[in-house]
Amino acid sequence: MVETIPKDTSKKLDKHLRKFEECRKELGKMGFILTGSIVKRFMRCGKESCRCMSDPMFKHGPYYEWTRKVKGKTVSVRLTEEDANILAEWIKNKKRFYEIISKMERITLDALKEIRS
Ligand SMILES: [Zn+2]
Repeated sequence: MVETIPKDTSKKLDKHLRKFEECRKELGKMGFILTGSIVKRFMRCGKESCRCMSDPMFKHGPYYEWTRKVKGKTVSVRLTEEDANILAEWIKNKKRFYEIISKMERITLDALKEIRS
């Protein structure tokens, strides 16, 4: 048997629609979204005469990289600290984007329960 969704459901859905609308507003304000992660590294250059080879506490850096998988391979891009901070925000946005989408789907399921109860 195919169950039909009743047509006059607007009142029942109001509170769910309000929650849904909040999510939509947050999505609307969201900036760029980016895949990957930001890595901060300190390195030894390998030159025998360099302090980084004689002093265990000394390394060059910090260096910032944006790393991500492209067709199964890790790709890294060197960044300035300033750009690293910007890209970190965009990566955070992507995580938040998926959180919001999941929330919207939960709200939708709640709404569906409501109109079928
Ligand atoms: Zn060095």
